[in-house]
Parts: sequence; structure tokens; C-alpha cells
Amino acid sequence: MTAAPNPSVADLLARPPYQGRLLIGGEWRDAADGATLERRSPAHGHPVGVYALAGAADAEHAIAAARQAFDRGPWPTLKGAERATLLRAVADGILARRHELALQESLENGKPLAQALAEIEGSADLWHYAATLARNLHGDSYNTLGQDTLGVVLRDPIGVVGIITPWNFPFLIVSQKLPFALAAGCTAVVKPAEVTSGTTVMLGEILLDAGLPAGVVNILVGTGPVVGDLLVSHPDIDMLSFTGSTAVGKQAVARSAATLKKVSMELGGKNPQIVFADCDWEAAVDAAVYGIYFNTGQCCNSGSRVLVQRSIADRFTAAVVERSRRVRIGDPLQPGVHAGAITTEKQYQAILAHIAAARAAGATIALGGQALATQQGQFIEATVVTGVTPAMAIAREEVFGPVLVVLAFDTLDDAVEIANSTLYGLSAAVWSQDFSTCLSAARRIKAGTIWINTFLEGHAELPFGGCGESGIGRELGRFATEDYTETKTLQMHLGPRTAWWLPS
Ligand code: NAD
Repeated sequence: MTAAPNPSVADLLARPPYQGRLLIGGEWRDAADGATLERRSPAHGHPVGVYALAGAADAEHAIAAARQAFDRGPWPTLKGAERATLLRAVADGILARRHELALQESLENGKPLAQALAEIEGSADLWHYAATLARNLHGDSYNTLGQDTLGVVLRDPIGVVGIITPWNFPFLIVSQKLPFALAAGCTAVVKPAEVTSGTTVMLGEILLDAGLPAGVVNILVGTGPVVGDLLVSHPDIDMLSFTGSTAVGKQAVARSAATLKKVSMELGGKNPQIVFADCDWEAAVDAAVYGIYFNTGQCCNSGSRVLVQRSIADRFTAAVVERSRRVRIGDPLQPGVHAGAITTEKQYQAILAHIAAARAAGATIALGGQALATQQGQFIEATVVTGVTPAMAIAREEVFGPVLVVLAFDTLDDAVEIANSTLYGLSAAVWSQDFSTCLSAARRIKAGTIWINTFLEGHAELPFGGCGESGIGRELGRFATEDYTETKTLQMHLGPRTAWWLPS
């Protein structure tokens, strides 16, 4: 496969915005009230997408279509092998359109084009992996219950899944959910974050091209308070799979309670990278920098707190500041750019407000801290904050931007205590050449993923999710499809009845 050339900003200006409609019951439709939404590139301010914007009536239709596709089939009762074939065709369809998808992701999110391409390719791998699980999903049997009893535990698809995704990795996150729900035999209504809907709508085209039956997947470009809230609270949605902020996630869990639906919540993080004095210096410095500026820090998994052992703290911080100066933040369409734009105006303002609050609380802005002067649009400088105590808001709250906080610790006990001192528990990293130090720390840190001498690696085989206010449940890994099932117990008596409640 040849690489597509990077389009210039001039090419971009000449390109008409991508047009997306609502996918409901296997058909592309306009919104019932004719509403539309325009998306402008956060890096260039240019229109890059125009979408039909769903209202409550459209959402009701989509939920009804998913309900019917589940209740009447055939999707939930197809053989696992048949579902696997379709999932593989989708993966191939994604790869065939990878450059187009990557460009739309880059234009709407503001991330560098090469990184968007890696995201799309990684997502195709998730569809392939889910295809393997579709054929391996199975229940359990017990022949240990006595001669006359056999127990069988079935795994049934849970039903209609409401999928709500955020704007930071739009295509990856829908691909962490949808193929696994489909592998289990579920149907779905998907609502991407309205500012980055393009690649999810394109996925709808790929699903239809692959031959997905009508109504199995319905896609709505819509806002959180209207379409999102309906997915959260609707009695015909059996499970909610949500990725987004902790604040909205908590609200969604509360709103879902009236229908007691199952929830899977992937929420925020304030993830520590713990650097011991005996670390592999170059690797740890590089990971500290990559860990915070990748995706402009707009990652749930960003290593936004670096905890450094005091004996090396000053030297390590200086090295991180020095390397941070070399991070190229700029036009995501330019080759060689490490980080692009902040995706939304709201997030851009929120990051600057976090920096101002840290300064006001007495922290030192050792690097950056301002809007990027060399660039128009929503760009923020690579920022390092020092002189921070664990009690400061900047050390506890998710900033979701290119803002690294450095804290010092003395002993392993101190490091673990600081690491566990936020309400979050998504991920962490430990850097030491002594594996006993690494494992002692890893076993005591409260987080769903701990990287040891590496950072931000992901594999479809490894479960992902958080503890505490980082969420409920796990995605990926070999149990990923099981999450979208309900168990049903069959308890069977064999042969003539031998026990009587009231003998005749
Ligand atoms: P957000 O919570 O603002 O929005 C997430 C989704 O929820 C969007 O689709 C939005 O439209 C929808 N939504 C908004 N209000 C809603 C409501 N009242 N009811 C139902 N849905 C509603 O999050 P965001 O700003 O798009 O994304 C950033 C957040 O996502 C960060 O906190 C980040 O840590 C988190 N995130 C977590 C993971 C993870 O896997 N743990 C991954 C990526 C992002």
C-alpha cells in the first residue's frame, strides 16, 4: 500500500466538506427537523464536515430500529463464524479507506495526520481481534452437580447497546466497543462526540458495504443533552457503553438508574509516571515527554503527573523541559509535527484556566503556559509545571492538555501514596531498572493498567479500563465480548425423580 501524500492547507481549502447523514434502519436520512451541524477544523478554522443533526425523534427511530434488529434477528442468532466474517470484512474496509479516514480524523480532531493514520490502522486490528472472539464466545457446563443433574451456562447477547464516544480518539474508541458488541450478537445505536463525527459516519458506510443487516448498527450525529441523554435513559437500550469525562459519566450512571441498564464507563485519569533514581534515564525522559504531548495531552491515559525521586528530581526535570522545547506543535497536516491543535474551543479555554489557577496557587510554570503565538487557531505551548504539591488542583484534576506536572518523592512508600492520592485510577507507569522496585510499586498502585519501563502501549489482547472515578468495567482482552452478554443458567434433571418435597 502506498502512502497518501500529505495534502497542503491549500488542498484542504479546495476540498468540499465531508457530508454525513444519519444511519437509521439501514438507510441514510436527514434529521426529521432538517437540522444540520457544521464542523470546522480546529487548526485552520475551515469547514471540514456538514452533518445531519439528530433530534429526539431521530433517536427514537434509531433505537426502535436497533430493537427490531435485535428482537427479530437474524444478527443475534447467526453463527459466530458468520459474524466473524462480517467483522473481518469491516476491518478490510477500514484499511482500504485508511487515508480518507485519517484525513477526516485529523481535520476534525486537530491531531497530526500520521498519528491519525496509526489510529485508524490500530482500530482495524481491533475489528480483526473481535472477529476471533466472535468464534470463541461460549458458556460453561457443570457435570459435577451429581449423577442426575447437569448445569449449562449460556451466554446470550445482552440486547441493544447505546454507545457514546468522546472526541479525542473518535475512531479508536468506537472500535474498542462496537466490534465486540457485534461479535456477541448485540445491535447498537452509536453517538459520537458531535465535533468529531466524520469517521464514525464513514464507518457506517463501511458497515453497509460489508453487508451488515439493516438496523444492526445505527449512527446518530447528535448532542449529549438530547441524543446522549436518550440513549442513557431509554428503556429499550439494554446496556450503555460510555467513554468520556467523569462528570458526564457520573450523570449518565445516575440517569441510567431508572431503567437499571448495565453500564460500562471509561472515564478520566490523572495518571502518574513514577521515575526512580535507577531508571533507564533516556527512556524515562522520552516517555515523560511523549506521555504528555501525544495527542496534545488529550488522552485519558496521558502521563500528566511525573513523580520523580528527589535525588534526581532537578536534573530529570531540566532534561524533560529541555526535550519538551523540541516538541513541534503546529499544523497537523505538516509532516514532522509531533502534536496538533486543541480539539474544541471549550477545552482550549479550560486548559488555559487550569494553567492560570496553578500559577495563582503558587506553582511555577517552568516552560510554556501560553497559547502558541506562532500559530492561528487553538494551539497551546508545551507546558511543564513545577513547585507543585500533591494537594494543588493541578496535581489532582484532569487538565486534558499539553500540561505536565512534576512532583518529587523520597521513598517507594511516598511514591505510592502520591500516586494513589487522586480520585482517579486509570493507568500508571513505573520506571526503574530494579524489577523488584517496579513490581512492588505496581502491586500497590490503584489503576487498571500499569506500564513497567514503557508507556502508552496498547494491545487488543490486554484489558483496558479504570478504578475509582476512572470508570466501571474493562474493554478489550479475551473477555471483551463477554461484557456484552447476559448469562442464562440451564439446570437439568436427568432420569427419574429421586427427591420429593411431599411424597405421594
Ligand atoms: P464528555 O464527557 O464531554 O463527552 C463524552 C460524550 O458524552 C460525547 O459524545 C458527548 O456528546 C456525550 N454527552 C455529553 N453530555 C451528555 C449527557 N448529558 N448525556 C449523555 N451523553 C452526553 O467528554 P469529552 O470532552 O468528549 O472527552 C474527554 C473526556 O473523555 C476526558 O475526561 C477523558 O479522560 C475521557 N476519556 C476517557 C477514556 C477512557 O477510556 N477511560 C478514553 C478517552 C477519553
